[in-house]
Amino acid sequence: MSKAYIALGSNIAPRRFFIDSAAKKIAQEEEIALKRRSSIYDTYPIGGLSQGRFLNSVVEVETSLKPRELLVKLLQIERSLSRRRTGRNKPRTIDLDILLYDNLAVRGNGIAIPHPRMHKRDFVMFGMNEISPTAIHPILKKSVGDIYSERQMKVIRSPKEAYNYICALKRKGKRIGFVPMMGYLHKGHLSLIKKARCENDIVVISIFVNPTQFGPREDYRRYPRDFRRDKTLAKKAGADIIFYPEVKSMYASDHSTYVNVEEISETLCGRSRPAHFRGVATIVTKLFNIIPADNAYFGQKDAQQAFVIERMVGDLNIPVKIKMLPIVREKAGLAMSSRNAYLTKKERSEASVLFRSLLLARDLIKRTERKASNIIKCMKDLIRKNSSARIEYVSIVDTVELKNIKTLKGKVLIAVAARFGKTRLIDNIIVNIKER
Ligand code: AMP
Repeated sequence: MSKAYIALGSNIAPRRFFIDSAAKKIAQEEEIALKRRSSIYDTYPIGGLSQGRFLNSVVEVETSLKPRELLVKLLQIERSLSRRRTGRNKPRTIDLDILLYDNLAVRGNGIAIPHPRMHKRDFVMFGMNEISPTAIHPILKKSVGDIYSERQMKVIRSPKEAYNYICALKRKGKRIGFVPMMGYLHKGHLSLIKKARCENDIVVISIFVNPTQFGPREDYRRYPRDFRRDKTLAKKAGADIIFYPEVKSMYASDHSTYVNVEEISETLCGRSRPAHFRGVATIVTKLFNIIPADNAYFGQKDAQQAFVIERMVGDLNIPVKIKMLPIVREKAGLAMSSRNAYLTKKERSEASVLFRSLLLARDLIKRTERKASNIIKCMKDLIRKNSSARIEYVSIVDTVELKNIKTLKGKVLIAVAARFGKTRLIDNIIVNIKER
């Protein structure tokens, strides 16, 4: 039996159907056993072609077929799924490519293994890296994981250099995805980078602990920092460029311009952190000017921040699309956060009560409770009973103005903030209430 990896791609609807059907047909072949499947992920056609986005996936198979026989079978499956070979780089219902076949290296007579461009193409390396980072590329003599993470990653420290570099890429028609962060990366941050990787040609991240968003008695100085570790993790997740400026290059000694997004910055976290969102809006505006991105990615973990930024880019006509992605949690439900590093063991185990209180809220809503004050009381009781946390707020607000609501309807944000020891944690869920 030989081991082979096959790339699947589709950019004609229904794309998922074509990917799933092709995988099923591969598995049904007598001489092929499907061993592993990567996730199915969304990608843009390479080289700025103006055609629909792809869904891609990679499968690992064991087969008694020789490479050419396997290729013939894959061509048959393509045809059975209405693939017409009308020329290079045309939209396709399904594309099936052999990436690797054992450690074979052959080229000629219509067959090329390993796939000659696989190591340069994120849309296959992403899936390969998911299911088999230890597989070896027989020509490059490197593991898939190494090839994937060694893709050139540039660290730029100067704002001017970053701007010029990104503008040059944009002139070449590259779509830029941007993930602004403070660093000390965890899986929540990496989920944003991975999403940006799927949706853009170039992924830029910034690592900058922004002094202006910390209050005078907050944790700016002790905020956890580890650039080397961040660089390795970001690279593995698919970042191409890190913008890593020094404080003095972002804030001159005479800096005196700030961006203030009124009202929605003043509720929830804005109450106890009065200058926080002014600092966030200012730094994000500066970053958007330095990194003129097409898409920017933020986590729902800081939902108010994402709403503030969304309002700001609308108000100021900043040409970037804001995307808010779901919260990544630890097993016990605690939302991942760089600040979790401050927690003692006891605090950490207690802290998952925040998520449990949100689940309780969701449950009460399911059981038709609509009065915000009743839900908030139950949540506070649960937190108090199960932890020594000091609650800062438990609020239910609308998702436009972020103002407290009395009776729940439509889309609502349920948000909590509490201190465990010295560490302030926040969490939230968004619930869409559909009345019958
Ligand atoms: P920070 O480094 O804390 O400024 O976070 C950078 C970005 O990562 C922000 O958009 C956060 O909302 C997002 N983020 C932080 N934690 C999580 C998480 N647990 N899940 C998803 N996104 C997150």
